[in-house]
Amino acid sequence: MHYQPKSSLLENRIILVTGASDGIGREAALTYARFGATVILLGRNEEKLRLVCDEIAQLGKQNARWFLHDLDQATPEEAHQLAARIAEQYPRLDGVLHNAGVLGEIVPMAELSTAVWQQVMRVNVDATFFLTQALLPLLLKSDAGSLVFTSSSVGREGRAGWGAYATSKFATEGMMQVLADEYKSKNLRVNCINPGGTRTKMRASAFPAEDAAKLKTPADIMPLYLYLMGDDSRRKTGISFDAQPGRKPGPAE
Ligand code: NDP
Repeated sequence: MHYQPKSSLLENRIILVTGASDGIGREAALTYARFGATVILLGRNEEKLRLVCDEIAQLGKQNARWFLHDLDQATPEEAHQLAARIAEQYPRLDGVLHNAGVLGEIVPMAELSTAVWQQVMRVNVDATFFLTQALLPLLLKSDAGSLVFTSSSVGREGRAGWGAYATSKFATEGMMQVLADEYKSKNLRVNCINPGGTRTKMRASAFPAEDAAKLKTPADIMPLYLYLMGDDSRRKTGISFDAQPGRKPGPAE
């Protein structure tokens, strides 16, 4: 995507990013801060979250805060407690990027363990839903809220071996579509991003034999992440966007 926003795109915006400790989420948090946003980082690893916060502080713009929230353990009550803590410190949320996710195992469905299936659904679907429900009141306080889910090409067309992950991403697309329809007459837009193959830890575990140098980096795909949080996307809702339009799904060639 060719999108060159002004450096002030996200000034006065408060944006929460899940899975902000690593990979695409870490890059999104840093990028949003660079474009002026106040960023709230969510993750399960305190040490990694602190490092991202320190990097944001070094930008000399808005300070970021982090909150621990392990999506594998999360309950609806914890999600509401977290939202209450956020509401004590911030007047609203202008953006939420649901980015955290797990891959599970790449094996035929017949061999997929129920434990892995349940873990992938807990993290990618259940906890994402709990958090969305808890954060909606804060998002609705924004004059132009943006709720962004993270999908995948296998969330649009199934692929052998990707059982739990693909199913969880179809559910993510569904969650996005339902919410977009429910809020279409409100100040809240709801969309999905399919990052496309991107050089991260998750990608390396999915395609261990792939030449990672052929993949885009998280920084390369940030234009879409910025577009969806800024005013230029105000009228877009219910859409599943590709951060790398035209890229063929599967290993890098
Ligand atoms: P990474 O594995 O690099 O990062 C995942 C992030 O999610 C990390 O911050 C990780 O935290 C966090 N996370 C994982 N489990 C939990 C949990 N239980 N509680 C809280 N946080 C958790 O993945 P990517 O950056 O590659 O992926 C980001 C998103 O993009 C995912 O939703 C993924 O499905 C999607 N995606 C990625 C593609 C790619 O090619 N990279 C392609 C298509 C979609 P920690 O640092 O503690 O591990």
